[in-house]
Amino acid sequence: MSLSGRTAVVTGSNSGIGLGVARAFAALGADVVLNSFTDSDEDHALAAGIASEHGVTARYIQADMSKGGEARRLVERAGRCDILVNNAGIQHVSPVEDFPVDRWDTIIAVNLSSAFHTTAAAIPGMRASGWGRVVNIASAHGLRASPYKAAYIAAKHGVVGLTKAVALECARDPVTVNAVCPGYVLTPIVEKQLPDQMKTHGMEREEVIEKVILAKQPSREFATIEQVADTVAFLCSDAAAQIRGTTISVDGGWTAS
Ligand code: NAD
Repeated sequence: MSLSGRTAVVTGSNSGIGLGVARAFAALGADVVLNSFTDSDEDHALAAGIASEHGVTARYIQADMSKGGEARRLVERAGRCDILVNNAGIQHVSPVEDFPVDRWDTIIAVNLSSAFHTTAAAIPGMRASGWGRVVNIASAHGLRASPYKAAYIAAKHGVVGLTKAVALECARDPVTVNAVCPGYVLTPIVEKQLPDQMKTHGMEREEVIEKVILAKQPSREFATIEQVADTVAFLCSDAAAQIRGTTISVDGGWTAS
C-alpha cells in the first residue's frame, strides 16, 4: 500500500495518537501536515524529523482547534487535503453538577466542532480531486458512557453521528468518512488522569492501571499508538473504499461487553 502523492492533515498531532498517525502516513509515502495550538521549535522539529526520516514533505501548522475559523484555515493553509484525520482531543473529569462551563464549551469545541469545521473545509477539495478520506478519532466513549466525563462522552458520541451524516452526504463520491474508536492507549491524555485516580482509589500507579483503567478492557492490555495508526491507515487504503459511515473499535473488547 502506498499513499505517495497524497497529503494528510492530522489535527492535534504533536503528541500521542495524532503523531503516530502522521508517522504511519509518512512511512506510506504521504506528505503530512502536523498541527496543534502551540508553535514551538519542538513542534516544527517533529515535522522536520518526519520529513528527513521518510523523504516526504512534512509541515507543522499552528491552529487552535477550539476556534472554528482556525480549524477551517488549517485546511486552507495546508493547500491540499486528500486525507483529513480529526484527532485533536482533550478531557476533563468532574460530576456534571460541578462541571466547569468553560471546560464543557472547550471540550465540545475541540473534540467535536473542530471536526465539523475541518470537514466542511476539506470535502469540496476531495470531491474536486476525485479521492478523499476523512477519519475521525472518536473513542470507546463514542459508543459507551462512563460517569464524570459528560463533555467528552457527549462530544465523542457527536463525532460518531457527524461521521455517519457526512458519510451519507458523500455516498456517491469517492470520499469515505469513518471513525476509529480506541479504548485506552497510554498517551498524555491518559497519563494526566492517573494522579487523580491514584488519589481517589488510594492505589499505586500500576494498581490503578490494572484495576481501574484497564478494568474496562477485557484484554487487560492498552491498545498501542501504532495499532490505532495502522487502523487509520487501513481506512485510507483501496480495500476500505466501501467502508463508509462506520466505526472501527480498537478497544481490547471493551464495547463487545
Ligand atoms: P494526547 O493528549 O497525546 O493528544 C491530544 C492532541 O490534541 C495533542 O497533540 C494536543 O496538542 C492536541 N490538542 C489539544 N487541544 C488542542 C487544540 N485546542 N488545538 C489543536 N490541537 C489540540 O492524547 P491522545 O491519546 O493522543 O489523544 C488523541 C485523540 O485520541 C483524542 O481525540 C482522544 O480523545 C482520542 N482517544 C484517546 C484515547 C486514549 O486512551 N489515549 C482513547 C480513545 C480516544
